[in-house]
Amino acid sequence: MKIVTRIAKMHELSRQLRTGGLTIGFVPTMGYLHDGHLELVRRARSECDTVVVSIFVNPTQFNNREDFEKYPRDEAADKAVLEHAGADVLFMPEASEVYAPGAATTVHVGALGDHLCGPTRPGHFDGVATVVAALLNMVTPDVAVFGEKDWQQLQIVRRMVRDLHLGVRIVGVPTLRDADGLAMSSRNARLGEKERALAPALYRALGAAVAAYRDGEKRSTELCNLARAVIEEIGEFRIDYLELVDGEALAPVETANDGSVVAVAAFLGGVRLIDNVSLARPQMLADASGADIRMRSEDAHYA
Ligand code: AMP
Repeated sequence: MKIVTRIAKMHELSRQLRTGGLTIGFVPTMGYLHDGHLELVRRARSECDTVVVSIFVNPTQFNNREDFEKYPRDEAADKAVLEHAGADVLFMPEASEVYAPGAATTVHVGALGDHLCGPTRPGHFDGVATVVAALLNMVTPDVAVFGEKDWQQLQIVRRMVRDLHLGVRIVGVPTLRDADGLAMSSRNARLGEKERALAPALYRALGAAVAAYRDGEKRSTELCNLARAVIEEIGEFRIDYLELVDGEALAPVETANDGSVVAVAAFLGGVRLIDNVSLARPQMLADASGADIRMRSEDAHYA
């Protein structure tokens, strides 16, 4: 696996690969890699001849310095994991080069950034869009792979690529979960033992909404109330939002349909966790008691 840190080197390498007739699949990450990230790497590998993974903890998408500094990092482990996963290139640009002195241009994402995580994380999605646009320009991939775990981010990136004609195909990958349903996340490492045991309630809550929708309930407030009750019963979460939104426009909807997504963000022991499930195609279905979390075979293979 090649490790590249300079942007000019990355440009050059991409040019060489393309000249050699090879396609490039790109997986942008902030490191502290887990199986969810590796699923993205596998997907990039299945789509393209070469796989570039970036690790860049982007300072401009954090809302405060402390969150940025506390973000978990383990470069040595990440390198080993990517080597094992068969990534071809690890791209780790320096913040000082990504944001050269005097850098002033940003991407503003518009209304998609106003919903869900937007209100509590002002500027976050502009930071994400700006760095993703910059990374896409550094790597010039044919395909870039993102996780559905960050649903809003995925929709914003899709829209940006369309609006700015960036000429890259965006592929979304379903959320990888631990066996108890908790969506894998680098932030899970910051949960204490007790919090880690409670955290799957978020997924059970989404599962409760999905189950009710499948039983015929279409009223958004009812579905959200059911999900909220599962979380509130635990007593340890502070819910930031729990909403039923249109899966593309991300605006709240009153009546659920197959294009709706139920999304949640909540603090647990000082850690902000997010999760979402699409009503039409939940990967797994958890019952509200948490006793039964099973993979549904017809959902497990959707593209
Ligand atoms: P991050 O390192 O958290 O910025 O995530 C890098 C990429 O991995 C993003 O596209 C995320 O959506 C994706 N990702 C993070 N967690 C998961 C997961 N559990 N399943 C699938 N993709 C994920």
